[in-house]
Amino acid sequence: VIGSFVDKNVYDWSSEDEEPDTRARPVQVLVVKDDHSFELDEAALSRILLAEELRDREVVAVSVAGAFRKGKSFLMDFMLRYMYNQDWLGEPDEPLTGFSWRGGSERETTGIQIWSEVFLVDKPDGTKVAVLLMDTQGTFDSQSTLRDSATVFALSTMISSMQVYNISQNIQEDDLQHLQLFTEYGRLAMEETFLKPFQSMIFLVRDWSFPYEFPYGQEGGMKFLEKRLKISENQHEELQNVRKHIHSCFTNISCFLMPHPGLKVATNPHFDGRLKEIDQEFISNLQVLVPWLLGPKNLDVKEINGSKITCRGLLEYFKAYIKIYQG
Ligand code: GDP
Ligand code: MG
Repeated sequence: VIGSFVDKNVYDWSSEDEEPDTRARPVQVLVVKDDHSFELDEAALSRILLAEELRDREVVAVSVAGAFRKGKSFLMDFMLRYMYNQDWLGEPDEPLTGFSWRGGSERETTGIQIWSEVFLVDKPDGTKVAVLLMDTQGTFDSQSTLRDSATVFALSTMISSMQVYNISQNIQEDDLQHLQLFTEYGRLAMEETFLKPFQSMIFLVRDWSFPYEFPYGQEGGMKFLEKRLKISENQHEELQNVRKHIHSCFTNISCFLMPHPGLKVATNPHFDGRLKEIDQEFISNLQVLVPWLLGPKNLDVKEINGSKITCRGLLEYFKAYIKIYQG
């Protein structure tokens, strides 16, 4: 039982002229424009992170990143449900809302969205932390968009304390190469330190179809990941380097294997996210995955160079990192 650990966040709108819109919603805080330049919506970000009851709280920033149309936002919406409700999974006929998912085949904006409501959660050690959920959009489909996506991925990895790398079906060599490229982008932008630059990396494999080899869930995931990230002498140097790089970047690396959600989810254009139309096996694993990620005791506070960061601090880092990429 997760308990009622969520407090409603009340906004401080006093600095704004506009009519306050208090409905929680996704807010696009970073946009990659057509000329590949970046724009940070500093006002929106400040409005969220500098709210009085948040700004001095230590922050947990959870991000989901990876290629486009692989179910990231769909998962995020279940994460939101968990943050909002003790009895979180919802009714069988309830459409899934929150971050926008589906969206047909049209191109999405490349960038980062955050949920406008930051959740205050009591951790078992007695601390109250602020939990920020970030959804990223990247395409990874051509050289030019790969560069944009790399920057989005790098930034979201730098800003988050928990990065969920959402991948489809398997961990392929190019997923690891992408991760190396993206984290290298991030590492170059950060100060040299003897500490690992990033915190938790969670490989989330969607549509896993070999449960008889490695069972769904976290244990099967860890065994599978160990095998994939293993370094051996007879491996090509390039393969060894990718693996060493990944090990050197993150304090914690884990993996979760998710089953396919069923054909209605994957192919029906009218599917609106209701549980009734999602395979039971997927739902059962979702009930393990989401608390494993977001359960109060599993929330990792953001640290930079070994110091815990508050919401206010995170805003400053966000602004500083963006400047580096703007050149
Ligand atoms: P995003 O671009 O990664 O955020 O992807 P979306 O969350 O918008 O989902 C894209 C499409 O994939 C939607 O039609 C979803 O119904 C579907 N989808 C969501 N989760 C899964 C999954 O685990 N496997 C498959 N095959 N499709 C999924
Ligand atoms: Mg999305």
